[in-house]
Amino acid sequence: MLVARGLTKEYQSGTQPLTVLRDVSFDVPAGAFVSIVGPSGSGKTTLLGLLAGLDTPSRGSVSLDGIDFSRLDEDARARLRGEKVGFVFQSFQLIPTLTAQENVQVPLELAGVVGVREAASRARDLLARVGLGDRTHHFPQQLSGGEQQRVALARAFVNDPKILFADEPTGNLDGTTGERIVELLQQLNRERGCTIVLVTHDASLAARTQRTIRLRDGVIVEDIYHEPSAASDAIPSAAPS
Ligand code: ADP
Repeated sequence: MLVARGLTKEYQSGTQPLTVLRDVSFDVPAGAFVSIVGPSGSGKTTLLGLLAGLDTPSRGSVSLDGIDFSRLDEDARARLRGEKVGFVFQSFQLIPTLTAQENVQVPLELAGVVGVREAASRARDLLARVGLGDRTHHFPQQLSGGEQQRVALARAFVNDPKILFADEPTGNLDGTTGERIVELLQQLNRERGCTIVLVTHDASLAARTQRTIRLRDGVIVEDIYHEPSAASDAIPSAAPS
């Protein structure tokens, strides 16, 4: 579903070019749940921006569903993102003058594919799923950090993206709230088959994804697959023998 080849990103730092990613290549199959970890400054956020088509690499390419981002102009890239991609930014980026429900409706209204009533109904359903059914008419400033994060998640899922990119989805949240977010991501990955790629510094969150890619100084130093956790993830046998 997502193919990264030879991704290199250089920034100009004063007179010197600063290489923050070097020749990064990997594939993410549809339905995968991948975490990207590494020390601060190792290039995680930069990589996520390239994978999501929000930024362009200095060299290398990213393809989503067989479409190479570099072959598209900015309009076509924005359209592709609108159709297939959801984002959860570290800073939530909710619009302060809109209620929770209105914030969640924004992507649907931008896409213009459903009417206002359908958009409102989908937004309410999703807010209920993230446990905010009684907060639909609250403004962001009336919500806690964890609640705002859940509104941002509902907004990311409202147009049923094929792939979700999340930057530190549990950052700045207390343990219990972080736990709810992880469970929600796992659920959406399993139930909707949404491919998820997230950046985290939280080792326990990374361990609960299917695969962890570790960056150091802009290169992949480890790419490991985790054993599925027992109990909740176990697939029940079809019939008792
Ligand atoms: P991480 O997410 O792992 O903390 P980042 O991808 O945010 O790492 O940053 C990697 C490096 O690139 C850092 O040294 C950072 O200062 C630098 N960097 C990030 N964005 C820019 C930019 N727009 N211009 C110049 N340097 C940048």
